[in-house]
Amino acid sequence: MGLMAGKRGIIFGVANDLSIAWGIARQLRAAGATLAFTYLNEALEKRVRPLAESLDAELILPCDLSRDEDIEAVFKTVGEQWGDIDFVVHAVAFANREDLKNPFSHTSRAGFTLALDISAYTLVAVARAAAPLMKNGGSIVTMTYLGAQRAVPSYNVMGVAKAALEASTRYLAAEFGEQGIRVNAISAGPIRTLAASAVGNFKEKLRIMEERAPLRRTVTQEEVGKSALYLLSDLASGVTGEVHFVDGGFSVVVG
Ligand code: NAD
Repeated sequence: MGLMAGKRGIIFGVANDLSIAWGIARQLRAAGATLAFTYLNEALEKRVRPLAESLDAELILPCDLSRDEDIEAVFKTVGEQWGDIDFVVHAVAFANREDLKNPFSHTSRAGFTLALDISAYTLVAVARAAAPLMKNGGSIVTMTYLGAQRAVPSYNVMGVAKAALEASTRYLAAEFGEQGIRVNAISAGPIRTLAASAVGNFKEKLRIMEERAPLRRTVTQEEVGKSALYLLSDLASGVTGEVHFVDGGFSVVVG
């Protein structure tokens, strides 16, 4: 019997086989979880569907998290099909490419609002919709980055969005704790993915990790997946409102 046997949950954020959400999904499935996947649009459906099917996904649903009606539809379908859920993975972020390259002070009002909406508010909306289905308690994990806590070159408005995401994680943990619902964030080191390609000087971030992180290397989607498995399982039954670092120790060293 796997750690997640008998547990069911939804994965938001697979775009392709490099996605962190995909690394998490594989660990969850290997531990016996039953999975539902969402995809952003038709173009991504072509990539997500075969991946999801390879993990025996029971549900594969469209969801643009900027649309309240899409969120409502996903949780309605999941509620009708499954009745309840045990976990949710939120591995979603978006900012305009120019806002991750230009000086931070050049961020437009629209770009700021967009990044905060997709990268932080969507966790609040998803948690609110998931909570009524977590009838026996549950666990929610989102993805963050060190740029929430320090000014990291080029991360800019996404750092501000991640700060809001980390604060939202704490407020959601405080609100839903009574219902046995835990909410945590994983702060991953830089990993080459579609979203990461939008961040200016990303190669430099990988190089600095290899040079300075205590483990002297970057981390993998699989390693993030293993930490997510822990946080989503009963092994982490006393852990909520935390930012859990999977960054080879980079955040704890200076210089
Ligand atoms: P990715 O591009 O594979 O995943 C980002 C996902 O966000 C995609 O699946 C995309 O479809 C989804 N998305 C964007 N806008 C959406 C919307 N409106 N509705 C629904 N989904 C939407 O890249 P990734 O690196 O795996 O990113 C996953 C998470 O991990 C993000 O929150 C990212 O900020 C975070 N993260 C990434 C790194 C890294 O270096 N790659 C490091 C730390 C944290």
